[in-house]
Amino acid sequence: MKKFELLEEYFGHKSFRPLQEEVVDAILDLKDILMILPTGGGKSLCYQLPSLMMGGVTVVVSPLLALMHDQVVALQANSISAAMLSSMQTHEESDQIEKRLKKGMIKLLYVAPERLTNSYFISMLHYININFFVVDEAHCVSEWGHEFRENYRELSLLKEQFPDIPIAAFTATATNSVERDIANQLKLDNPLRVRGSLFRSNLTIKAQHRIKDGRLQLLEFLKSHRGDAGIIYTLSRKSTEAIAQFLQTKGIDAKPYHAGMPTEVKNSTYADFVSDRISIVVATIAFGMGIDKSNIRFVVHMSMPKTLENFYQEIGRSGRDGLEAETLLLFSAQDIVQQKFFIDDLPDTPYKQHVYNKLDSIVRFANGEECRHQTIAKYFDDDIDRCMDKCDNCLEPDIKRIDITTASRKLLSAIYRTSQKFGLHYVVDVLRGSREKRVLENHHDKLSVYGIGDEYSKAQWLTIADRLLELGAVEIGEFKVYKLSEFGAEIIRGVQEVDLREDRLTVKKSIIKKIADSFSDDYDQEIFEKLKSLRTEIAQANNIPPYIVFSDKTLKELTIKLPKTKEDMLMVHGIGEVKYERYGAKFLALISEIAR
Ligand code: ADP
Repeated sequence: MKKFELLEEYFGHKSFRPLQEEVVDAILDLKDILMILPTGGGKSLCYQLPSLMMGGVTVVVSPLLALMHDQVVALQANSISAAMLSSMQTHEESDQIEKRLKKGMIKLLYVAPERLTNSYFISMLHYININFFVVDEAHCVSEWGHEFRENYRELSLLKEQFPDIPIAAFTATATNSVERDIANQLKLDNPLRVRGSLFRSNLTIKAQHRIKDGRLQLLEFLKSHRGDAGIIYTLSRKSTEAIAQFLQTKGIDAKPYHAGMPTEVKNSTYADFVSDRISIVVATIAFGMGIDKSNIRFVVHMSMPKTLENFYQEIGRSGRDGLEAETLLLFSAQDIVQQKFFIDDLPDTPYKQHVYNKLDSIVRFANGEECRHQTIAKYFDDDIDRCMDKCDNCLEPDIKRIDITTASRKLLSAIYRTSQKFGLHYVVDVLRGSREKRVLENHHDKLSVYGIGDEYSKAQWLTIADRLLELGAVEIGEFKVYKLSEFGAEIIRGVQEVDLREDRLTVKKSIIKKIADSFSDDYDQEIFEKLKSLRTEIAQANNIPPYIVFSDKTLKELTIKLPKTKEDMLMVHGIGEVKYERYGAKFLALISEIAR
């Protein structure tokens, strides 16, 4: 079958998304590939579709059991023979899978990386006809990424043992240097590198200074998300429970989830969430990696994640169906102190500095005033336009701003006068006329800038410095030394002006803002609920999660199109021949009843 027919028949899609076809073609040409595409961009299809067109088995290495399981269930629901091998299976089960593999009855085999250390497994791989390998979540192979996994290092063995079999590696997040590292570690042979834009246009990203424990802000946010599925991330196990309980007292069906809970409880919470029986999970970051629930409408962080990579991945779990979703980051200076505390304990290696830099980046992002999408993209070496209306900074440009040109000139001059050889804290000490021994020893109390900055507190100067960093007026060199850029020099010369959101200098007074309801979906809520009940019924009868039957997007489109025939139905997003055969008749019957 041709690729477009397969796309429609097995996956129910009318066309490829940007970059998918290029990768499918390259896999068919037996090239090595490294694809970076945001969560929800449609990476799975890039290897699942060519796998169907080629003889042999595709071996997919994936870091998490839950992730593999979801993929296998979704493939099986589309009549594609997929299986996984994991340490959780009995010998009989793995034997069965091995037999089917050898008979060529399996198209896609999912395995955890530790399998590759098993010599029996490797020798078995030599007996089966493998068309290509897939390395999912490939950033785990790089120490410079954010989720390094020791056992991913074993993957270098793939090229060593199977030099003629292509590898397709996929990840949602990688800076240029992580990308290079992945290619080196996996020994990819002149791979086709495909980088999708990081812009998730259906996500509205917001960040606010947390007021006290942030609960009021959370409630305010949830007002516009009644009944929506969402994840709330907290740092500690205890707070997952406390916040879930708090929400329950407000009549919101939230459950906690963290690594310390008994497995049965965790599994049942996970299942309840995936099957739409509860709408909210309050979790530590143990929850959510690889979760394939397409209708998550929001993600809230109650405190600052460690890195922008983590943040981007975590918010990326929302809106995978392409419909609007909203994310809120609540943060405070305490979070930063806490994170720094952890890093301080690391041994003094370049890695430690690397972790500090990552923390700096997310702190700057949280405080930042530039378009949030653009800031994230820049961090991952991508260049996009301002989103205009998909982040708080673009949506609220009229927040009162104050001119800080004079203050900026003072700070920049102090950096310059101290010969661009000192860290920020030192420079601010000089500005504020500190009697610190080091300042006096360096004779910096004799400088013209000494003591000219006592109108602001130290914390306020640090905020001003952050703003200058955001604008590129200063750069941080080795040993965290601050240096002027050309733009910074222009500010000193009076050619450029600088302003700042007033609330950044008066954090305490930060206001809870009413978040405008960003949902303007055009669909019939009442019909949607009816279709949803049918979907739940079918899902329960087949013991599969509801989104495997049809996504929310498909149901919403059905409420508008109200198809009468098979042909009409096949025009709807996410419905191909296979899905139609399975569920089409039931939905058509219900729709005709509704439309009568
Ligand atoms: P990723 O692995 O990149 O996070 P997925 O492979 O899970 O993304 O795909 C995300 C969503 O996009 C899924 O719901 C999938 O059905 C949908 N999708 C993928 N490819 C297409 C396409 N060509 N047209 C429409 N929807 C698609």
